[in-house]
Amino acid sequence: MNTENCQAGFDDPKIIGDLKTLVRFIEVYCDGLHDASDRQAVDLKTHDIQALAGRSVELCPDCTKLLTHALVKRSVCPMDPKPQCKHCPNHCYHPTYRKQIQEVMKYSGRKLVMRGRVDYLLHLLF
Ligand SMILES: [Zn+2]
Repeated sequence: MNTENCQAGFDDPKIIGDLKTLVRFIEVYCDGLHDASDRQAVDLKTHDIQALAGRSVELCPDCTKLLTHALVKRSVCPMDPKPQCKHCPNHCYHPTYRKQIQEVMKYSGRKLVMRGRVDYLLHLLF
């Protein structure tokens, strides 16, 4: 039940939950703000997006890059237990992506709340 080790990897349910949330948030963001004609099915070497989302996910190139960065950073988080990112002493995100993911969290968080999907609002919020 109490798996506090962030480095446990891809089968840690806490990490999987966070990864799913990241996919969902970035998907909502891209869907709301970016041109649909730029979007392509996401296919990453590092993570199986289809398995995470339960279906294929389409994002524009910028959002795909951001998602890759976010998923890798979350999967290798060395903090144990993982603090809220904004309280973490070790800001591991590249500053550009950090700013982008904050915008994604703000935009998609608001949208998902309006749709009643408050279950997405969790400790991950920046
Ligand atoms: Zn996008």
